[in-house]
Amino acid sequence: MSWASRIIEDIELRPFWRDLGANELSSRVEALLNHQKANWPLLREGTQNLSQVVTRRIPLGRFEILAQFNPQRLTSAAAPVDRESVRNRPCFLCAENLPPEEKGLAYGEAFVILPNPAPILDRHLSIVHRQHIEQAIADHFEVMLDLAKDLSPAYFVLYNGPQCGASAPDHLHFQACTREGLLIERHLEAIETDPGLSVHRHEVVTTTEIELLALEDYHLSVLIYRGSHRKMLAGWFYETLKILADLTGKQPEPLINVVVCAGDRSGHIFSKDRGWTVYLFPRAQHRPSCYYAEGEDKLMVSPGALDLVGCLVVPVEEHFRKVGPEVARQIFSEVTLGEPLFSHLVRKLKERTLGLLAEA
Ligand SMILES: [Zn+2]
Repeated sequence: MSWASRIIEDIELRPFWRDLGANELSSRVEALLNHQKANWPLLREGTQNLSQVVTRRIPLGRFEILAQFNPQRLTSAAAPVDRESVRNRPCFLCAENLPPEEKGLAYGEAFVILPNPAPILDRHLSIVHRQHIEQAIADHFEVMLDLAKDLSPAYFVLYNGPQCGASAPDHLHFQACTREGLLIERHLEAIETDPGLSVHRHEVVTTTEIELLALEDYHLSVLIYRGSHRKMLAGWFYETLKILADLTGKQPEPLINVVVCAGDRSGHIFSKDRGWTVYLFPRAQHRPSCYYAEGEDKLMVSPGALDLVGCLVVPVEEHFRKVGPEVARQIFSEVTLGEPLFSHLVRKLKERTLGLLAEA
């Protein structure tokens, strides 16, 4: 089945469209999900399972994340992503291999928005390129910005690098979920309003167009970019990737997860004053040591962007019971870029600004 026959037209969506007057992308996505839940049993089941999923709060200092026991994610967490295994399996994101009931919305000429039948968060979507091309962010980061803007303010968009959580490293795709699950956004709000917190924001780059921050003493390494200037934001993002690739020796793409949202979570859509927020997680490795451990120490945890923003997925019940603050901290410190490389990255970015100012 080709992409052309998988694209759902607005006329088919009409009976599932609650707010017929609205034409924004998020209202069409809502209609798509309603249509698909009515017509695709696997998605209906997956959504029902998500509503029964068990979660537990994990305090990390003054913040909190959630551990989620989600057996639906076992296949994905355990997926072999080495080149050989990937080459030898049919690609589950290519149009001809999707379940016959699965339909999507066209996003521009190149992408299709599809429901994710094994959701981690509410209204979990996959945004899939129509061609079978490798998962790589180069030249596609701007698509993430556009998607986050078009889906603002209800959704955030994420990218998992081919060696950092993407279970289809051979087929370019993004994901999107509703913003309530973006706990890091609440953490950042707290850090910026409560000077008494032990975590601090460190201003790496501040220009009239963008702001680039790093968090100090947070439970993982992250860079945060804010601004409403698309080109400038993309410029700094790609510049960071270049420095990171040099620092870590991972070419052409360093190990990363990326999350983008736009507008704000109190309901304002994208505007000049409420532009994009990008979270870039530089990674040290894909899976933590507990993933490879044997016996009692084994924990099936395979972190991608969603785990890093505050929803740590554990698909095995016995392992889920063992995940507490200490284990979570250990996992985050192993999989995100540690010191001294992270400080080095920050220093390089600062030097880059000074260089640009000198050039101006
Ligand atoms: Zn494919």
